[in-house]
Amino acid sequence: MTTLTNTEAFPLSTAKGFTRLYGIPVVAIEEDCGTLLMLGHPDERSILAVTAAQYRLVYGQRILPGRELDELIPFGVKKTWARAVPRDGYCPWHTELTGTDAEHALPITLVSVDWLEAEDVAVQEQCPVCGRASRTSDIASTPGRSGYSRVRTCRHCHTRWPSVDAYRVSLYKLRKPGGIDPAACFGCGCTPAWTCSPGCQMSDNPPITQPLCTTCQAPHNATTWQALTDAGYASPASDEQRDRWLYTQALRGTHPTTAATAWTERRALVRCRALAATARDRGNA
Ligand SMILES: [Zn+2]
Ligand SMILES: [Zn+2]
Ligand SMILES: [Zn+2]
Repeated sequence: MTTLTNTEAFPLSTAKGFTRLYGIPVVAIEEDCGTLLMLGHPDERSILAVTAAQYRLVYGQRILPGRELDELIPFGVKKTWARAVPRDGYCPWHTELTGTDAEHALPITLVSVDWLEAEDVAVQEQCPVCGRASRTSDIASTPGRSGYSRVRTCRHCHTRWPSVDAYRVSLYKLRKPGGIDPAACFGCGCTPAWTCSPGCQMSDNPPITQPLCTTCQAPHNATTWQALTDAGYASPASDEQRDRWLYTQALRGTHPTTAATAWTERRALVRCRALAATARDRGNA
């Protein structure tokens, strides 16, 4: 935000980047997107609804209840007037606060959201150990395949498993990790120069066609490795999340054939739920 005057100012209603939620144009501003700028002076209920919709539809997140949310309306909202001023670089315009009678001035509402607590919204999945529902996911690494992906952590028993990769339609995109070393371990990405644990080496006798380190090979015996490859682990037909699922389920003692069937069912169920959740989101904003 700037307070410099600029003769090329223009109305914020013509500025690029706004999304219309519940009929109110909104855009995240500031370097860390810590402020929502809404056009007009909406009432409290609309401010809360638009803020929640911005998190849900644009970020794929749910705002958590708590003191931060309670204090949003009394302390986090500023109603004022402003216009847009052009800027070079990554941001095509900035906001200039003005009096009510300045040229191109429009009523705006600034909502400080950077301290709100939020969590990723995921389509519901059941914990493979205790069966309780999980509705959130995170980005982390899980055994069985190198790289980062969506994972679930059960709130009740703390079991961690790779999330089925079907989500609500969201603007968030997971970046493809670039430049994976083909000589690195398939399971964890370690190399002789960058070992995953002290003394780890590349296996002389990997049970899969890709390189595997001794640390990733060790948890399973030859029979389990045979069952894993029979179930498609590390085959071109498998995908990353399925491989992670088969491997982590085998660590828990689930036979790969059983795990493969469970994955297919889980995937189908989550896809149905994702479609329903997306339809609901669209209807709600
Ligand atoms: Zn659980
Ligand atoms: Zn490894
Ligand atoms: Zn290793």
